[in-house]
Amino acid sequence: MAKEFVLKDYLKNGIRVLSYKYSGPSEAFNLVRIPRPDNWPNRRVKWVAPCNKCKVLFERSGLQADHIEPIIPVTGWPEAPRSSLYEHNRGPDMNVLVYRCFVKPTDYQMLCKPCHKEKSKRENEKRQQIRTSSKL
Ligand SMILES: [Zn+2]
Repeated sequence: MAKEFVLKDYLKNGIRVLSYKYSGPSEAFNLVRIPRPDNWPNRRVKWVAPCNKCKVLFERSGLQADHIEPIIPVTGWPEAPRSSLYEHNRGPDMNVLVYRCFVKPTDYQMLCKPCHKEKSKRENEKRQQIRTSSKL
């Protein structure tokens, strides 16, 4: 049997592929980069930038472009309008995913991996809190 077509998953994958090619995150790095200090261990690195949270300097590979406003709203996702393409699978409004995924360079901040992980964790806790309190 052919795999069921799920528009939501199809679009999510497509958007992920496009987001890898999107220049926003590199431009966000370029906005805050500085020439590497003279004593930087890797002499081939030209630019470094501070993590916006802990302020430690990192090479580009040590930083991630964080969506200051998270892609997935902490308050929950608006529902997609009805369509025969996904009426069995009504879910997030994928237009909202596009708008929230592709943002201006200034809507990103550069974070080191541990700080980014910590921020995501706090956002997930907030989502959980909101979900729990709306059930009461
Ligand atoms: Zn950090």
